[in-house]
Amino acid sequence: MPDRGETPVSTIFTGERWSIQRFVSGFANNAFLITCIRTGKSVIVDTPANPDELIAAARATSVGAVLITHGHQDHLEGFAAVIGEFNVPVGIGADDRGSLPGPVQKLPELLDIATGNLIGAGDITLRPVATPGHTPGSTCFMLGLSPGPDAALESGTVSGTSDPRSTNAISHVFTGDTLFPGGPGRSGSPQALKQMLDSIKTHILTLPDSTVVLPGHGEFTTVGASRREHAAFAARPLDPDLSGDVTWA
Ligand SMILES: [Zn+2]
Repeated sequence: MPDRGETPVSTIFTGERWSIQRFVSGFANNAFLITCIRTGKSVIVDTPANPDELIAAARATSVGAVLITHGHQDHLEGFAAVIGEFNVPVGIGADDRGSLPGPVQKLPELLDIATGNLIGAGDITLRPVATPGHTPGSTCFMLGLSPGPDAALESGTVSGTSDPRSTNAISHVFTGDTLFPGGPGRSGSPQALKQMLDSIKTHILTLPDSTVVLPGHGEFTTVGASRREHAAFAARPLDPDLSGDVTWA
């Protein structure tokens, strides 16, 4: 779990290979800056309102990409400011692309994240995984080490979907509004809830227990804690009409 001792509030993880900073703005939205310590290359996850702190911190790094967990407005209110500053490729689930603000022709390059292409930044990669349900294009991003000392990583995006080393090395997962401590994100219909539950079971609860879950709002949890909470929920019959704000308890 994050150590809040003497470290600055925004820094939630510092290791040998990467640091993760969190910035809270908008509707208690979390934006994240993930930086490779060796190279200073970084990736931004989500762009809520008032991104001044995020931008100031990111200026000290070499930003390679902006990743958006999903197309809801509160995750995008700072998008124009962030892109205006860094003008880097953007990764968002194809089904949520229509939510990006601004005329399409003014957008920077869109990354193809549907195929699981890794987003590289120095020694680290973010692996996109489609987790539809909260929105059709909701995507989780899994942080791990790069598959190897690959020169291609230095230039930004690399392709590749199945390197076991990067799967094993996943330490943090950015879940947007798909998974929070205590439950899934808000669902607009029973079908959407079922879809989100499938996404969570298939792609998140299968990660190692120690994997830290960093959601789009509020505090953090782990895959192990989420799996225990979910087990109690899954042991009960699912009300076919259930949707909205659902909790595991
Ligand atoms: Zn949302």
